[in-house]
Amino acid sequence: MKYPKRLIEVDLPIKRISAHARREKSIRHGHISTLHIWWARRPLAACRAVICASLWPDPADDLCPDIFRKVAREQMTRWAKNNLHLLSEDSRSRFVAISKDEQKLDDLLELRAALLDFIADFANWDNSTVPEYLETSRLLTQVAHEALGGEPGSRPLVVDPFAGGGAIPLEALRVGADAFASDLNPVAVLLNKVVLEYIPKYGQKLADEVRKWGQWIKEQAEKELAEFYPKDPDGATPIAYLWARVIQCEGPGCGAEIPMMRSLWLAKKGKKSTALRLVHDHDSKKINFEIIKNSTANDVLTGTVARGSAICPFCGFTTSAKSVQEQLKNAKGGASSARLIAVRRDDPKSGERGFRLATDVDVQVAAGAIQKLKINIQAKKSELSLVPDEKVNPLPHSVNRLPMYGMRDLEKNNLPIKEYYKKAIDNQSVTC
Ligand SMILES: [Zn+2]
Repeated sequence: MKYPKRLIEVDLPIKRISAHARREKSIRHGHISTLHIWWARRPLAACRAVICASLWPDPADDLCPDIFRKVAREQMTRWAKNNLHLLSEDSRSRFVAISKDEQKLDDLLELRAALLDFIADFANWDNSTVPEYLETSRLLTQVAHEALGGEPGSRPLVVDPFAGGGAIPLEALRVGADAFASDLNPVAVLLNKVVLEYIPKYGQKLADEVRKWGQWIKEQAEKELAEFYPKDPDGATPIAYLWARVIQCEGPGCGAEIPMMRSLWLAKKGKKSTALRLVHDHDSKKINFEIIKNSTANDVLTGTVARGSAICPFCGFTTSAKSVQEQLKNAKGGASSARLIAVRRDDPKSGERGFRLATDVDVQVAAGAIQKLKINIQAKKSELSLVPDEKVNPLPHSVNRLPMYGMRDLEKNNLPIKEYYKKAIDNQSVTC
């Protein structure tokens, strides 16, 4: 059986659709990107346009069913008469002309152009929930489907075997198709289930439950973790501990301890900018730190790491990336040689987040956390492993950093990461 070409096979207003797709990136309300994170998410604008143009036949094609031409003509005439205010400047002149002379749409190329204008305007985020756009697009989808052999009353099925963040199936539902989405990644499958099934089915009830149980998890976590984030004497609460892996300088006769830090900036935003300054203790050949507040680029030196190699702040010798990796490997990925540097904290008085240097108390708190983890692992309270225990994926360094820190051997020897953590824990130190 021969089919007519679809609109997408003859033309698509790509420039206008792209402009809507670009603008959509800054939408921060009501967009699925605000609901969940996914990489390389396709713009909804582009998906919407492409799906419409794939489901609707080209009216100028000889094989286009007459019923589709008829309904498309009626719809575009209706838009010309009633909905001019909903159309963009780019489309308006065409539709104004149609409103003055309905016969224009007897020209099938003109009908095609009107449909493409409609698709370009429908790609606009602001129009994605406008009833007139939804009704017209769903009607055209349905007529095209049945006219091209679809069972009456059924809907066309849009199949996306690599649905990822779900932009394509979501838009398929919007324009009146059914959607089948799948993905190899179970996270993507869950995201699609939520967006395509649970939200339409449960609506507000789902939002309420998520809020309720999110709050419950937050309270439980706060209760359990409070002892590892004890308040400072001034009432501020630590919220993050910043560590650095440490290696020994291999420069001749040096042996200084180098904290590995690519950058000394802690925060780099306007007035709140904060950085670390290295303070050399020449006796112990150790680096201490100071915090510089309101730092400018001139105050802040470069870090101690460049492309994986370490530059000694004492003698200037560069310990090669290979040697750094060797040292870290011997130190179990740096786990047994990590140093706590700074603490980020919430200050309830000023309402600001700031930094302070790590103290002995913080180091003790970290040791306490390691102890607790050890006890919990021994007690085997959970069926699930308390530490990651999957094998390390042997991807290149640029994708997976674990092998760089010595976990490659675990993979080679087929040792699960759990063993790595176990060794690190026995050694009383785990990097965070
Ligand atoms: Zn040195």
